[in-house]
This record gives sequence, C-alpha cells and structure tokens, in this order.
Amino acid sequence: MTTEAVRAMPGTTMIAVEHVRKSFGPVPVLKDISLSVPKGGVLSLIGPSGSGKSTLLRCLNLLTIPCEGTIRIGSHAMRFGPDHRMPRDRDLAAFRSTVGMVFQNFNLFPHMSVVQNVMEGPVTVLGRGRDEARDLAIRLLDKVGLREKADAYPDRLSGGQKQRVAIARALAMQPEVMLFDEATSALDPELVGEVLSVVRQLASEGMTMVLVTHEIAFARDVADTCVFMRDGFVVEEGPARQIIEDPQQAATKAFLSHFH
Ligand code: ADP
Ligand code: MG
Repeated sequence: MTTEAVRAMPGTTMIAVEHVRKSFGPVPVLKDISLSVPKGGVLSLIGPSGSGKSTLLRCLNLLTIPCEGTIRIGSHAMRFGPDHRMPRDRDLAAFRSTVGMVFQNFNLFPHMSVVQNVMEGPVTVLGRGRDEARDLAIRLLDKVGLREKADAYPDRLSGGQKQRVAIARALAMQPEVMLFDEATSALDPELVGEVLSVVRQLASEGMTMVLVTHEIAFARDVADTCVFMRDGFVVEEGPARQIIEDPQQAATKAFLSHFH
C-alpha cells in the first residue's frame, strides 16, 4: 500500500476519546475531553504547562486511569465511570500493547546495550524468540539511523541518539499508535532535528500519532490537526496549519504569541 493510501484511509478512527474526566483527589485536571484521530492521522497537542497534556496522553495508554469517559484505540475500547469496575490487569496489558509512548527523558534501561533495550519488550512481553527479536531490533535501529550503535550502552549516546533508541524500542512492540510527550524538550537544540526527522518519517509511513510538542513549526508542518488545551479543557481544535497560523480563540492567540 502506498503512503498516500495509508494516510488517506477514510472513515477509520484509530483513537477516540469521549468525555474523559480525570481528577487527582479533589483537583480536576481533565474536564470532559473528547477528540479523535483517524488511522494514519497525526494530532498535535499544544498548551501551557499544567494544562493536562501529559495526563491526557497517559490516559490514552492507561498509565493513568480516567475517572470517567471512554478511550478507544483501534479495536480496544474501555469505559470508565462510577458504574464500571477497574479493568483487569490482563485487559490493561492488551490495551497498552497497542500504544507506544516516548517520553521527554528517554527512560532507556542503563544496564542494557542499545539492541538489548529494543529487544526487551518483544522478548519479555510478547514472548518472541531472541533471534527474531534481535533481527527486528536491528531493522528498527537501521530505520532510526543507529544500527552501528547496537552494542553501545546508553551512557555513550547523545540525547538525540537515546531518543531515537527509545523510538525504536517503542516501535518494536508493533504498536498501532505512537504517543510523544515532549520528546525533544530535553535535547540540546542541535539534536532536535534528528529526532523530529524520525517522527516525520513515521508520519509519512502512516503511523497514527499524538505529539505533545513545543516545536510549533514542526506541529504545523507534520500534524494534520492541532488541539489547544488550557486548564483541562480543549479550547480550540482544527487543521494544524489553521490553528497555528490563524487561531480564533484569545487564549490560543496568547499562547502562540510566545513562539513568534
Ligand atoms: P501538562 O503536561 O500540560 O504540563 P500535566 O498533565 O502534567 O500538564 O498536569 C496537569 C495538572 O495535573 C497539573 O496541575 C499537575 O500538577 C497535575 N497532576 C499531574 N499528575 C498528577 C498526579 N499524579 N497527582 C496529582 N496531580 C497531578
Ligand atoms: Mg507535560
């Protein structure tokens, strides 16, 4: 299938969030959030610090359990609320295995080589054989431009290289969607581009993604849609280029003015 066909696939929703609420104790952090991403779509999530972006991403892979609402990824759906029991661990694990996540701080296993980091999930979680897992890991390291670092340890890598390993490690689980939470915020400026170009490549291959990012120009160019959050609400959403170049809401305008 061509890249175009993947990205243009009409009508299939890959991520659906409906009326999600989350409070930590008495403090509401997500207040009735709904959004959806079609298969092959890229959504960028922007907003000030503390607006709930990370909490929303964590709800998408159920690292954080919503108080209310529905989360659906592909064919896995879960409903939360006072009338619903906590999901069983087995169901949580199945759900999470469809979602790859990349964090600001890489979270590589320091005592494992690069290739072992990438193999670890397929071997221990998916039960793949070591040879098969290693072949896949090498292919993915090749994809992110780090094949020659397969036997290096994380402390020998630059931040940009670590983050590309983290992306390969997430891809090794063959997720249906990828979530990036400020994946370039901890990097020196000269290392940002190499990570963004991997994300851009994934987008062109039709990976469904949600990007929390402060790289506004990147969000405009790579994302299809953009959601601006503030204070636990979606304030404004629409085509990425329109939201970023011509926002309608005062809060969105104020936020984006910091980037010009
Ligand atoms: P963002 O990623 O947009 O900066 P977060 O989702 O990290 O926002 O945080 C939104 C709000 O929720 C903040 O006020 C934060 O302090 C609060 N919060 C996040 N996680 C927790 C938690 N585990 N316990 C209590 N409060 C939390
Ligand atoms: Mg955050």
